[in-house]
Amino acid sequence: HAKAQGRNSMRMFDESMTRDSAERLRMENDLHEALERNEMRVFYQPQFEVATGRLVGAEALLRWCRPVQGMVSPADFIPLAEDTGLIVAIGAWVLREACEQASEWETRTGVPLRVAVNLSPRQLEAGHLVDHISHALQASGLAPSRLELEITESAIVRDTLSTAEVLSRLRALGISIAIDDFGVGYSSMSYLRELPVDKFKIDRVFLSAVPSSASDARLAAALIAMAHTLQVGLVAEGVETSEQLDFLRAHGCHEAQGYYLGRPMTAQDFEALIHAQVPGGPAAG
Ligand code: C2E
Ligand code: MG
Ligand code: MG
Ligand code: MG
Repeated sequence: HAKAQGRNSMRMFDESMTRDSAERLRMENDLHEALERNEMRVFYQPQFEVATGRLVGAEALLRWCRPVQGMVSPADFIPLAEDTGLIVAIGAWVLREACEQASEWETRTGVPLRVAVNLSPRQLEAGHLVDHISHALQASGLAPSRLELEITESAIVRDTLSTAEVLSRLRALGISIAIDDFGVGYSSMSYLRELPVDKFKIDRVFLSAVPSSASDARLAAALIAMAHTLQVGLVAEGVETSEQLDFLRAHGCHEAQGYYLGRPMTAQDFEALIHAQVPGGPAAG
């Protein structure tokens, strides 16, 4: 009896594995076509200067709208896009799209804002990244100083020397570089300090229990102090409450983003947000 059960559960295991790999294969096939089928969208989450409350920029966040399944989170398809190498083409599209959008906002609102684009380690390794980015800037007319690139610690750990070289060339163009999800990776302080980097983005795990947990609050305060010491910029991500924002202000954190301040939104909604900030704009009336 036990043997029969064992065989049964083995077969169920096989079937679910087959289903998972079939689903993965279907997703992979669809992902190949997603750009041509115009299923990718870029959403924009506002970033604010903490001390003044001024809108300073947007982070571009990719969304995949599948016809049947609906909106797929990047957490669910970026790993697949990275495994298959599709992230290189998709990432190039996000860059062009975000640069064009930021340039268009500036033309239409007169407000100069920065746009931050997430880069996959695969894009750094693929070569020609600097050429692609210069081309996206030229084609859109966006000033290099308006573009920020977000790179995770793990991307940097993969290959410090050539990564540092690419980052230096990008910075020479006037683009700024931010380390995303700062603090959750394994990078050593000694070489993070050596890297050509303008800004750290502290991961939202550090804020989630602030200010209720005293030890988490001390850790977050230490990260902010460290950015001050290293003289790099700092963005806190995942701000969900007014208490968290007060905490960041009290400790001198430069910038913040999070659901409390604004969710990722369509380009059109973001433009309305810019207008609402302009003195004399629709919201000021
Ligand atoms: P990330 O770069 O760390 O982006 C921040 C994520 O946190 C976003 O998730 C954002 O929607 C979410 N978030 C923002 N504020 C809050 C908050 O207050 N609370 C909570 N709980 N979450 C918040 P999203 O859009 O699902 O993106 C997930 C990740 O996918 C991103 O993490 C980034 O690593 C990756 N990703 C997104 N777009 C791209 C892209 O164009 N290229 C690449 N290579 N990766 C991307
Ligand atoms: Mg990011
Ligand atoms: Mg992040
Ligand atoms: Mg994160």
